[in-house]
Amino acid sequence: MAGMTLASARKALEARKISAVELIGAHIGAVDSLDGRLNAFITTSFDRARVAARVADERIAKGEAGLLEGLPLGIKDLFCTEGVRTTAASNILRDFVPPYESTVTANLLKQGAVFLGKLNLDEFAMGSTNLTSAFGGVTNPWQREGSDARLVPGGSSGGSAAAVAAGLVLGATGTDTGGSIRQPAAYCGVAGVKPTYGRCSRFGVIAFASSLDQAGPMARTLEDCALMLEAMAGFDPKDSTSVDRPVPRYTEALERGVRGLKVGIPKEYRVEGMPSEIDSLWEQGIAWLREAGAEPVEVSLPHTKYGLPTYYIAALAEASSNLARYDGVRFGARVPGASLDALYEATRREGFGEEVRRRILMGTYVLSSGYYDAYYLRAQKVRTRIQHDFLAAFEKVDVLLTPTAPSAAFAWDEKPDDPVQVYLNDVFTVPASLAGAPALSLPAGLDRQGLPLGLQLIGRYFDEETLFAAGRVMEKAARFTHRPAIVAEGLA
Ligand code: GLN
Repeated sequence: MAGMTLASARKALEARKISAVELIGAHIGAVDSLDGRLNAFITTSFDRARVAARVADERIAKGEAGLLEGLPLGIKDLFCTEGVRTTAASNILRDFVPPYESTVTANLLKQGAVFLGKLNLDEFAMGSTNLTSAFGGVTNPWQREGSDARLVPGGSSGGSAAAVAAGLVLGATGTDTGGSIRQPAAYCGVAGVKPTYGRCSRFGVIAFASSLDQAGPMARTLEDCALMLEAMAGFDPKDSTSVDRPVPRYTEALERGVRGLKVGIPKEYRVEGMPSEIDSLWEQGIAWLREAGAEPVEVSLPHTKYGLPTYYIAALAEASSNLARYDGVRFGARVPGASLDALYEATRREGFGEEVRRRILMGTYVLSSGYYDAYYLRAQKVRTRIQHDFLAAFEKVDVLLTPTAPSAAFAWDEKPDDPVQVYLNDVFTVPASLAGAPALSLPAGLDRQGLPLGLQLIGRYFDEETLFAAGRVMEKAARFTHRPAIVAEGLA
């Protein structure tokens, strides 16, 4: 079962070559044997999964199988799951059991998906390393050749990326506010899609920065991501920013090819100090698309250099406001105090980790009177400029190709002490988030140390189909079949 994808497992289930009970049992076994080393799961829900697998086998037998019937998925622990603890990797929600299901996970369950549990992340999805989790960091299943240094999986959806890469699940949900699906996908050698803002409902997804947060699929292949996204996406009256448009059959767009497409290469993404291997992989990606009939065109996104500062003002402002609800009264943990203010202070001091506290402080600062105009308002204006850059580029080209991240996965102990250095990781992913445009990352090659590197495609609003088609062309050319060595120890 080790080589399976969602698509191939689906076929095997349909043809009755395996049963859902066997498939789920094998993946539970893989979690049991490997997750002690990876820490990708915060909570497992194996009992529920075993029951769901039996139901799936019955539905398959009756010809009533859903799109993802009987397939093992992991859920980022930012999605509320009814009756299953949901922590956002924070102490403040350590014992929170939601009384309702997020729309995205409800949609997946409706299609027969089986959840093995809740996956680790950076606390409240704030980070690029998965080291800010209150439940401990996640270990990337990949290792540098000849070294046993423990690497980060990227973040914030690090548990999702690691679980897929290690073969613990066939797919996982992620969320992406500034790169949290794409960057960990790149670091762990898997595919990940951040759809257009508004494509997937945010209802029941614990909020970080509401104008940026978007859910999406992570899996080994783009075909698997397409399958998952078909199930996850759709209009939801419970999320006022969800968009009422039909969900296309993404799987049918995969083989469209790129003949005649114009592929924009944004010149501002050639940043200084980027490893030459990432540059050459990018060139390689351009060549793959050209050989398949696309025309590469250099384009300019002139406000790119303001992307990071704009993001780290807008996202933090929204976070400070969203996280105000964790006050020790209505949700989660409470630390008593002599007065109401003392209770708030003690609860929030104990409940939030360092990075979350830093962000609440900065977010509150940029929204405070006297600084609002200088920071928050200005950031909103620059955000509009960044959006306009993309709109102008998409008048000339159909899709943009860039690297996903400026480096491969780094070691736990190589994480810079300066938080701003960590923020620089998001340089290529943040602009599409600010614009609300869809983007994906696919594993495209290995660096000299044997670590995976990703390429990013950014598309027009609601044109995920072109992303899948162009991504599929590169996926075929890249023939990325590498897996981390640890996989062999998990699935039989
Ligand atoms: N790394 C970015 C941050 O720390 C993005 C996180 C995300 O997309 N959730 O904010």
